[in-house]
Amino acid sequence: MNIITKVSDFENFIASIKSKNQSIGFVPTMGALHYGHLSLIKKSKTDCDITIASIFVNPKQFNNQTDFEKYPIQIDHDVNLLENVACDVLFLPNKDEIYSSDFIMPSFNLGKMNEVMEGKFRPGHFEGVITVVYRLFELVKPNKAYFGLKDFQQLAVIKKMTEYFHLPIEIVPCTTIREKDGLALSSRNLRLDKMQRIEALFIYQSLILCKELVPKNSPLSLKKLIEDLYIQSSLKLEYIEFINPIDLTILEESWVQGAVACIVAYCGEVRLIDNMCVFECV
Ligand code: AMP
Repeated sequence: MNIITKVSDFENFIASIKSKNQSIGFVPTMGALHYGHLSLIKKSKTDCDITIASIFVNPKQFNNQTDFEKYPIQIDHDVNLLENVACDVLFLPNKDEIYSSDFIMPSFNLGKMNEVMEGKFRPGHFEGVITVVYRLFELVKPNKAYFGLKDFQQLAVIKKMTEYFHLPIEIVPCTTIREKDGLALSSRNLRLDKMQRIEALFIYQSLILCKELVPKNSPLSLKKLIEDLYIQSSLKLEYIEFINPIDLTILEESWVQGAVACIVAYCGEVRLIDNMCVFECV
């Protein structure tokens, strides 16, 4: 695997790929890689000539300084995993080059999408996500970019940004990869102790329960029911919302096709996010 850290080297590399008319698949990550990330790499490898992964822990998208400081970093382990799935290139830029003085993020308003869930609870988060993804897209110039459905709202926001700027990039959604017991793989799971790892499973179980209870409840009554369950659990629920998968509006009275239950809960200090389609899923 070719590991490139300097932006100028990376730009030369991309120019040579483009001159050969090879297609580029791109998987942006913040590292501490797991099989969820690798599933995106594998998908890109089946679709594209060259697969590029990036690792960059983006300070702009953390609204909580402690969360940023405690974000796990394990480059050697990541390089090993990437080599095992035969990723072609790892782009490992530093902060000063990503946010160089000549980079200007054009203005873009996320609108209502930024007023719910992650947008509401993590002010500035999506502005940070959009900025880094825009900058990475500008450098990588991928034909396709792969994002996990685990971060459902992030995926929707990136799709909207790509469409708004008419970027010639296909955004490919990828299934959430879970542990055998159902816990969604996440870099943050590394911060859970043994007990918390067991407790964290409640998030997946509550999503399954939502799916079972949808036929007998409105979104609002089910939200209340789940909130009550979390009060009795060891997790601290930040939010549960049932949303329309197209525009992320919050459902209250009735269900729509493909409705998604989105949950964020704290297990100790660790903030975990997950979601599941709960109604007429395709
Ligand atoms: P991150 O390193 O957390 O920024 O994630 C990088 C990409 O991997 C994002 O598109 C995530 O949605 C995706 N991802 C993270 N966890 C999973 C998972 N368990 N299954 C599938 N994709 C995931």
